[in-house]
Amino acid sequence: MISDNVSINAAGHLTFAGRDTVALAQKYGTPLYLMDEEMIRARIRVYKQAMADFFPAGSTPEYASKAFCCKRIYEIVAEEGIHVDAVSLGELFTAQKAGFPMEKCFFHGSNKTDGEIAYALEHGVGRFVVDNEDELDALNRLALEKGVCQPILLRVTPGIDPHTHKKISTGSVESKFGIAIQTGQALATVRKILTLKGVALQGFHCHIGSQIFVSSPFGTAAELMLAFLDEVRAEIGYTAEYLNLGGGFGVRYVESDPVIDYRERIREVSVALTDLCRQYRYPMPKILMEPGRSLVADAGMTLYTVGGVKEIIGHQNYVSIDGGMTDNPRYTLYEADYTVLNASRADQTPDFTATVAGRCCESGDLIQENVRLKKPQRGDILAVLTTGAYNYSMASNYNRVGRPPVVMLDAEKDYVAVRRETVEDLVQYDV
Ligand SMILES: *Cc1c(COP(=O)(O)O)cnc(C)c1O
Repeated sequence: MISDNVSINAAGHLTFAGRDTVALAQKYGTPLYLMDEEMIRARIRVYKQAMADFFPAGSTPEYASKAFCCKRIYEIVAEEGIHVDAVSLGELFTAQKAGFPMEKCFFHGSNKTDGEIAYALEHGVGRFVVDNEDELDALNRLALEKGVCQPILLRVTPGIDPHTHKKISTGSVESKFGIAIQTGQALATVRKILTLKGVALQGFHCHIGSQIFVSSPFGTAAELMLAFLDEVRAEIGYTAEYLNLGGGFGVRYVESDPVIDYRERIREVSVALTDLCRQYRYPMPKILMEPGRSLVADAGMTLYTVGGVKEIIGHQNYVSIDGGMTDNPRYTLYEADYTVLNASRADQTPDFTATVAGRCCESGDLIQENVRLKKPQRGDILAVLTTGAYNYSMASNYNRVGRPPVVMLDAEKDYVAVRRETVEDLVQYDV
């Protein structure tokens, strides 16, 4: 199987984290998000250990909580002792409600409102990752009003050409995120920051993109960042304490995706950085990394119940499910790959090719096209694998469909981390 927490039991049912998925679907109803808590913890520990082994003391992973956000995940991350990234009042508030230590929180986002900035200052958010000069001015003003000096990192765009690295486009000079290095604007902003009394610059941040399987784009980013750090030191005399390399390591959605050894990839990044620091005679900064997807994606699975199976003679087949773009918009957004299995007949040889379609009134509401699976019957349970990242956190109520619950599986039990949205929930804001 694509992931080692997925298997098939004696009943021929698909299992996830050792549990019978058909039994879980019966117990909790569908659509249903499952999350394997042990796997999330194991992934966090791999990052934490590798970063402790290969980077200077004080280096740490930050969980990019936009990938999967609810109170329970912040509790798990807090217990594992790493930091988090939050990008909105909602994420900050959820972390706080879960008792997450605010000083271990990085406040990100390309357009923080004055209200969000004030809230984060009020509640002692550890560091801001400043995206642009307007935000810098607003933060400096609000911090001075409060009589505090807020630690910040500055987000810069290293100018990685998206044409050479397909799918990696958040680091290009034309990105909506951060301040460009190659135009000289990042250097000018550093000059300005150092004159401000409401903010204290601790270093720099970059994020080059997502679903990256090799370490070389991080090596390229490190090269561009070190050249920038060296320039800042030469021009202004400022030496960075922290370098944040962002998130982006990939996960396996389908068999053809490579298996990725995160520890080894992190070691390679460390080797590249060590060389660069030697070359520039730059003291090795503390390194921050921001995994989102690679901590939670394959710890997640979604279960659906099959409704109609439609065979359009001479054309194509559809398998209709009781969810779709409302709980997983990623195929609709960018034709994301997924592995789909008939969980009720997981031991039977695939004999049917179909498009898995959601229930919304949109032709684009598809989970996957041309899937090979054992032909399902109405009532069968369908499993979509690797849905732990950017599914629940991207879910909507289109067509007034309630969002599914999130059920966590730990070593001993299954438990509800987020309950199912009811029709009463759906009308609660209507006045
Ligand atoms: C989305 C994002 C991440 C996480 O990316 P993954 O691909 O999920 O690891 C990290 N940092 C920033 C700034 C992001 O925008």
